[in-house]
Amino acid sequence: MSVVDTLGRPLRSLRISVTDRCNLRCHYCMPEDEYVWLPRESVLTFEETVTIADLMAEVGVDRVRLTGGEPLLRRDVPDLVSRIAARPWIRDLAMTTNGVLLADAAAELKRAGLHRLTVSLDTLKRERFHEIARVDALDKVFAGIDAARRAGFTGLKLDAVIMRGVNDDEIADLLEFGRTVDAEVRFIEYMDVGGATSWRPEFVVSRREMLLRLERAYGAITAIDESTSAPAARFRLPDGLTFGVISSTTQPFCRTCDRARLTADGVLLLCLYAQHGTDLRRPLRAGASPDTMRRMIAAVWEGRADRGAEERLTVRDRGSYIPLSVLKKDAHLEMHTRGG
Ligand code: SAM
Repeated sequence: MSVVDTLGRPLRSLRISVTDRCNLRCHYCMPEDEYVWLPRESVLTFEETVTIADLMAEVGVDRVRLTGGEPLLRRDVPDLVSRIAARPWIRDLAMTTNGVLLADAAAELKRAGLHRLTVSLDTLKRERFHEIARVDALDKVFAGIDAARRAGFTGLKLDAVIMRGVNDDEIADLLEFGRTVDAEVRFIEYMDVGGATSWRPEFVVSRREMLLRLERAYGAITAIDESTSAPAARFRLPDGLTFGVISSTTQPFCRTCDRARLTADGVLLLCLYAQHGTDLRRPLRAGASPDTMRRMIAAVWEGRADRGAEERLTVRDRGSYIPLSVLKKDAHLEMHTRGG
């Protein structure tokens, strides 16, 4: 059984945040000095996570991405990987990581059955990495990328949030680095998601501007014609190198969004900009039957009408989305809780 929402969008992809903790403090995601964390007892066990994933699969999900927080901070995450990899319905199992702990984990993740890895990498400069992430760990990320390749991960992706005056002078350098490690680079427009309290429109480098700059450096860029629900639009340089741009801020793609998100404590969210979610942990722990749970999930998706990023586009005098005082009262509004 598969379900569609009020805009005809099917449910296909599930992003599971396995922890809200992170070992970096990137200023575009976690700029504050202190955070309120999800209580440990509310975090789903792996059994509970797989139970919910199975129910979601019954209404259409066949792709899962593990994220966070930093997913590699969750103890025994390869165990979760192997459990999901063994599900008969899984077609694509990926993880998004900052790469800091990847050097020690890559081989085990591969053995556990992870299909694909995306590593977030905003800069190639050590000092700059330290300034952005507030931890001096770029060498560890490079080691992680190296280990992922040695472990046999192919189709590696490198995601870079591009911010004016911060790292927008590295667009071409990041592409060239991607070439040397056989990874496809994806440039992400800086988004005004919950938690990004320093977001200002002037820091956004639009997809249009990124392409213009790359065209100046490389010559004519060709758009790759694909009809997928993937968030990145893909392009090709004259020399054949491909890359992606995720333009959620200036050219959102809500109409093709087939993604649901599950927080580490079992809240189902339908949009990165959603202000409310559906708590699946409570009914699950209270013993709701699989049938009841499945019907609940199907009904939530069928009622979906959000177009969060498109709606943000219509806001005049756009500033940060959720005020800090509100974020402090509800961790679920934070990007690092819902996963990117
Ligand atoms: N810790 C993992 C990582 O760094 O990849 C996974 C979680 S992180 C929240 C997922 C992605 O969201 C990262 O690529 C991060 O750069 C991106 N992200 C966080 N805040 C963002 C923002 N304000 N705008 C755009 N992307 C953002």
